[in-house]
Amino acid sequence: MPDQDVDLFIIGAGSGGVRAGRIAASHSARVMVAEEYRVGGTCVIRGCVPKKLLVYASRFAEEFADAAGYGWTVPEPRFDWPTLIANKDREINRLEAAYTTTLERHKVGLVKSRAVIEDANTVRIVETGARVRAKTILVATGGAPYHGAAIAGLEHVISSNEAFHLPQLPKRILIQGGGYIAVEFAGIFAGLGSQVTLVYRGENILRGFDDDVRAHLRGEMEKRGIIIITKQTVAAVEKVEHGYDVELSNNQSMMADQVMFATGRQPNVKNLGLEAVGVKLAPNGGIAVDAYSKTSVDNIYAIGDVTNRVNLTPVAIREGHAFADTVFGDKPTRVDYADVPTAVFSEPEVGTIGLTEAQACAQLAKVDIYKTSFRPMKATLAGRDTRSFMKLVVDGTNDRVVGCHIVGPDAGELIQVIGIAVKMKATKADFDATMAVHPTAAEELVTMREKAVSHVRQAAE
Ligand code: NDP
Repeated sequence: MPDQDVDLFIIGAGSGGVRAGRIAASHSARVMVAEEYRVGGTCVIRGCVPKKLLVYASRFAEEFADAAGYGWTVPEPRFDWPTLIANKDREINRLEAAYTTTLERHKVGLVKSRAVIEDANTVRIVETGARVRAKTILVATGGAPYHGAAIAGLEHVISSNEAFHLPQLPKRILIQGGGYIAVEFAGIFAGLGSQVTLVYRGENILRGFDDDVRAHLRGEMEKRGIIIITKQTVAAVEKVEHGYDVELSNNQSMMADQVMFATGRQPNVKNLGLEAVGVKLAPNGGIAVDAYSKTSVDNIYAIGDVTNRVNLTPVAIREGHAFADTVFGDKPTRVDYADVPTAVFSEPEVGTIGLTEAQACAQLAKVDIYKTSFRPMKATLAGRDTRSFMKLVVDGTNDRVVGCHIVGPDAGELIQVIGIAVKMKATKADFDATMAVHPTAAEELVTMREKAVSHVRQAAE
């Protein structure tokens, strides 16, 4: 391969790109990766990781308040936002360094620059103008916040990117959106002491999740003082002397110190040279790929959020790994997208896997639903008004658990473990045969005996 500089050139050193580079290098490929911002990508730098640190911070308020019921006297706690942000930044710096070390250890060359595709085998490093010849190119450029159609005052609106670096905690924040990021940040800011208003265009938050989960979480968020306004959008944002005057689509106006949109993300496909080289996009705006993440150009691949498939970090990592095994490990590997467990780090958390009740009813002839709502034990002495929720969706024709939905403390941890059972196609009888661990919240998952409802699809006339 005399005229090639590298076997693999990766654009984007996020979770997917780094994994792909590391695995390809372990298959003896010569790999170079370009990153225009920071190594680690959205998840590590301004997504999952810093978000979870902020979630931890936000939960102390309830812990301090609840301690009294357990006999503790806690002096009035005070929270300092700049300290949290500085400590969070220190941790992110450490992780970025660790990611960089991983690349070095695997002899993956790192170029800190934007890179664009010039032709199917050439990448240009924008900073230096240098050109690199590559046998294979992998696009792993992720996505970026999308704010929707232009409205008056959109320039005043922040996204989650900026939320991680605010100079101070806003006293009042208005968040538009009803997805993962909106409900997670609503919980973060409310826990830290902000007055939070969430504005969502649809009927209820978390569209696509099980309806009982949506209703339960909304109730719990409202109990924590979050104002949720549905069937409205933000129509205009005006900067006034003490904050922003926000006008909603129903002409209602309200004041906020910060306005944040969490209205989805778009794949980063612009100005990469994709059109020129013939890489096609899918109707949803992501790069179109086959089951092995190959684009419409034979030696160009794409993984992660830029493909707009299932936009979750572990999925991007799997896609990167599968790509490297396929192309450099002589082991064609497809990613299995069935039953991907996921968590929303709202307050309380949501954990979910498999079919919702509505999806199961649309797909299966007979569906049995088991569900429970209960006061977590810890809330009793604390005197806190909160309830957890759990639901199992069972295929009534073969007893398989095809969906599990949890709202409550540690739902993310629970769904990871339940995910194994669902993935293994465990039946409700297997759940029932599993001895309970007492006293836990999770024991509810193996002790639900009474069907809440049984749906039977009527045969077509
Ligand atoms: P989501 O797609 O989850 O939610 C976007 C929200 O914005 C929806 O409620 C949507 O409404 C609403 N919306 C979209 N366009 C408009 C508009 N023009 N005007 C008003 N509202 C609008 O995106 P997020 O930004 O919350 O998160 C992006 C992705 O990041 C997620 O899909 C997820 O894959 C990932 N993520 C995962 C996390 C995790 O695993 N815990 C955490 C954070 C992000 P509607 O429902 O009506 O379409």
